[in-house]
Amino acid sequence: MDKQAWGKLHEELTGKGVTLVAVSKKKPASDIKELYDLGQRHFGENYVQELVEKQAVLPADIHWHYIGHLQTNKVKEIAPFVHLIHAVDSFKLLAEINKQAVKNSRTIDVLLQMYIADEDTKFGMDEGEIKVLLSEYEAQKDTLTNVRICGLMGMSTFTDDQAKVRAEFVRMRTFFKQLTGTTFAGRPEFAICSMGMSADYETAIEEGSTMVRIGRMLFGSRG
Ligand SMILES: *Cc1c(COP(=O)(O)O)cnc(C)c1O
Repeated sequence: MDKQAWGKLHEELTGKGVTLVAVSKKKPASDIKELYDLGQRHFGENYVQELVEKQAVLPADIHWHYIGHLQTNKVKEIAPFVHLIHAVDSFKLLAEINKQAVKNSRTIDVLLQMYIADEDTKFGMDEGEIKVLLSEYEAQKDTLTNVRICGLMGMSTFTDDQAKVRAEFVRMRTFFKQLTGTTFAGRPEFAICSMGMSADYETAIEEGSTMVRIGRMLFGSRG
């Protein structure tokens, strides 16, 4: 756990108005508590079971971000407390999050996962797929009362080529801006552009990220 790295990052990001999500997957609750004691409140996890166990033993005012791929049948386990779900990639998942939010008498904020990397993965949607999801959402908005779409999340290609990474972030930011001016015009909640991790957060911020998800730089390698 690198407290000095956290201090520098916290100061830099606060100055820029960027939210720091400390990604604590595979790290013990004691590591999280150390950063919490310094003032960190946003933590990100990728695995439902691990998140549920940590949430139970850590302070109640932590904002838990679920950043991994979420299976529909697992939504109910995190619905009582999750702060933001980053990786919504289907209408079915969006509808299930709404259903579980209703059961818990709360509203759950989500981001749509945009596929920007040049890699083989089955997760995330391109611009066209996001537009299809949004038209379904608009058509059924009256029933989707307890889920709020607050922005986009994306991951760049795992490469040293920063020009390529930058181009991917630009693509995401461009689409994000397009949506703020069209589908989400007049809806200020659509304001989160979650992009940037340990290796590329500086480029992401230069290209308009409002939220970075940083693990290794704070907690060390995950082995
Ligand atoms: C693990 C993970 C991160 C953090 O990556 P680091 O390289 O450790 O900073 C960010 N976002 C997602 C979706 C992740 O799965």
